[in-house]
Amino acid sequence: MATVDSPLPRHDDLKADFPGLHQEIRPGVRLTYLDNAATTLKPWSVIRAVQAYDSEYPANVHRGIHALSERATEAYEAARETVARFVGAAEVEEIIWTRGTTDAINLVAQSWGRTFLREGDEIVLTDLEHHSNLIPWQMLAKEKGLILRFAEITDDGRLEDEAVERQLSDRTRIVAITAMSNVLGTVTPLDEVIAMAHDRGAIVVVDGAQGVAHHAIDVGKLGIDFLAFSGHKMCGPTGVGVLYGRRELLEAMPPAWGGGSMVTRVTREGAEWNDLPYKFEPGTPPIAQAIGMGAAVEYLSQFDAKALIAHERQLMDHAHRLMEDIPGVRILGPSPDHKGGILSMDIESVHPHDLAQLLDREGVAIRAGQHCAMPLHQRYGLMASARASAYFYNTTEDFDRLAEAIRHAIELFRDRRSRRSG
Ligand code: PMP
Repeated sequence: MATVDSPLPRHDDLKADFPGLHQEIRPGVRLTYLDNAATTLKPWSVIRAVQAYDSEYPANVHRGIHALSERATEAYEAARETVARFVGAAEVEEIIWTRGTTDAINLVAQSWGRTFLREGDEIVLTDLEHHSNLIPWQMLAKEKGLILRFAEITDDGRLEDEAVERQLSDRTRIVAITAMSNVLGTVTPLDEVIAMAHDRGAIVVVDGAQGVAHHAIDVGKLGIDFLAFSGHKMCGPTGVGVLYGRRELLEAMPPAWGGGSMVTRVTREGAEWNDLPYKFEPGTPPIAQAIGMGAAVEYLSQFDAKALIAHERQLMDHAHRLMEDIPGVRILGPSPDHKGGILSMDIESVHPHDLAQLLDREGVAIRAGQHCAMPLHQRYGLMASARASAYFYNTTEDFDRLAEAIRHAIELFRDRRSRRSG
């Protein structure tokens, strides 16, 4: 594990930053929040940043030349700069505000993909992908006669770089890959995959919805072509996300959607596109949310990225030990040294939805279902799984509570079965 330069603050101090964390979801039932892969909780600094916009300067950006609009524009653009620094973008214009990861990937597919791909071209994906990094490519493939290829994972949910290499060919134009699986937690070998893809002249689209939130991703160092991520997975508001794109690629792309603000001159017949990044931001953007996402990034930037990773690793080491002690619990995916803070399980005697409901009675919030990754569940022959996902404000005690609640659920189902057969 990487050495940590400065440890995380004490848990009590962290907890004070998150009003959502310390609450009772019903009288006497304390919340244990383990659904962070779906969305994270928001710290006060984010809540206050959004509130300040809404209450003090709720104006549109880039339009009116009046004090409030100037203030809104400044805050909105400052947030863009904060995000650009956080992911190591060379230029602030390479950061496009979107509605989220899904929106950002669709933008690449609808603009770069539609413009530059030809029949017979190939897109390489992996078995780990969220539907957000699958459906946009399926839609494009159907429209343009493209071929989708899938790099397979190992039985324990790891992605080996050779598995990606086997799918690459001279027709590969895009490798679209998650940085971290939202189901198994698997961290993918981005460095190697990017080098191999670039060797073939393909571009790399990284789904960073989990990766940016849990591991520092530096687009410059890694040589990423496009990176998509969401504010709400990293302490920010919902409804906002980012597409990072290399300037050269973004410059060559046409806008995917038309409207106000993305044009400089308009006649009845046509229009001239605005400069980056506005070319891709038609209409009124999610102003409050972008400002909130900037505040979230500032909040996260105070921590040593290695400390965040080390903390999740410690939580996963603990969680794996606990679950391995419970008969009938199967952990899906790799050992903690190959993943971030996500623990998905298949429990012999309890359906994931029943489990999630029973856990909720004890205040433990997890997610049950396919987590927008049906092909991955098919790979394991499962209809659904139960997922507990951590963030830096979670503790080993949260996982103790999870384990205890799982034991109770298993016992309850065992009792019911024996009563039925008795
Ligand atoms: N990719 C991954 C890996 C995710 O975890 C998610 C959210 N569950 C998404 C994409 C989609 O993100 P959003 O819903 O914010 O667009």
